[in-house]
Amino acid sequence: MSTDKTHPSFAPSFKIFHEVPALRQYRKTLTTTQRTVGLVPTMGALHDGHLSLVRQAATENTDVFISIYVNPTQFGVSEDLSTYPKTWESDMKLLEIVDRELASTSGCGRISAIFAPSTGTMYPTLPPTSEVDGKGSFVTITPVGEVLEGKTRPVFFRGVATVCMKLFNIVTPERVYFGQKDVQQTVIIKRMVKDFHIDTDVRIGETKREEDGLAMSSRNVYLGSRRRAVATVLSQALFAAQEQYLSHKKTSRGDILWIANDIINEAVAKQEELPSEQRARFEVDYISLADPESLEEVDEVEPSRGAVLSGAIKMLPLEDPVDGEDTGLGGGIGSVRLIDNIVLREQAV
Ligand code: AMP
Repeated sequence: MSTDKTHPSFAPSFKIFHEVPALRQYRKTLTTTQRTVGLVPTMGALHDGHLSLVRQAATENTDVFISIYVNPTQFGVSEDLSTYPKTWESDMKLLEIVDRELASTSGCGRISAIFAPSTGTMYPTLPPTSEVDGKGSFVTITPVGEVLEGKTRPVFFRGVATVCMKLFNIVTPERVYFGQKDVQQTVIIKRMVKDFHIDTDVRIGETKREEDGLAMSSRNVYLGSRRRAVATVLSQALFAAQEQYLSHKKTSRGDILWIANDIINEAVAKQEELPSEQRARFEVDYISLADPESLEEVDEVEPSRGAVLSGAIKMLPLEDPVDGEDTGLGGGIGSVRLIDNIVLREQAV
């Protein structure tokens, strides 16, 4: 990376690796000097959610490694692998800015390495498959990988667990960092680390949101302004349901979820009534109230255990765009799946 001439004390020093041996060699030198590594796995297209994990990792480790790799095996055959946003230049700029901030914070670690492998490096034996019954070396975590997101996206968590196992083996980080935004992913990674005795600590960072509550996501760039305005319905529904638990002390499924379903159904009906050049139609995949460890649906929240409120909606392709309308990356042609969740924390009983 280049040196910033306006800040003589600051020199972004992170190294970029594309191959495993060089990264391993570098990682070994850190181990021998008692430094600690926190790994933040990402698919790039970085936003504040990713950066908050980098900052958290820097408060707990001397060295932060960030992987940037769009993993093909977690995309289903008809999903958006080929159009997934790739923003290498702006990602590097963002990381340089965060590294500068870390350099001026005392007692804080720094961004040390970026790992950006090719698919040939990550999948050295077979071409990676996205087929449900495709062959290959995979890690599967069931049944927790089969519910919620796993129902609609049957290869997703097999791909996530497999790529994370590879990354953990390559980097051997003391700690790994994942966002609460993808709650099922956090549960699966924790289970994988436990069941395979992986010597790392799984750390979870809070969900970063836009001002109106929409959870940040690399996929939000596909929305465009019309669908973006309606997309807040998911977080509004989940926050309203959380209120039933926190303020109204409700613990039964019906008493918590009714309001979320009401808000969503009203929004669906409102969009249906609008003319096609104004509306942003969407479908609900699920609104769930589940156990925090198994992610099985619960009828009653045990306050000593808490629960996970989560939901997924699919914003349908934009209809009849008007002249000059911001249709989002890709022109509004595809649907955009949005997920979100809120943890209902344990409460003293
Ligand atoms: P991705 O690049 O989408 O695979 O995400 C990489 C990591 O960033 C995952 O651990 C995500 O859970 C996390 N992440 C994504 N969006 C957010 C967000 N809005 N807030 C916090 N973490 C996030």
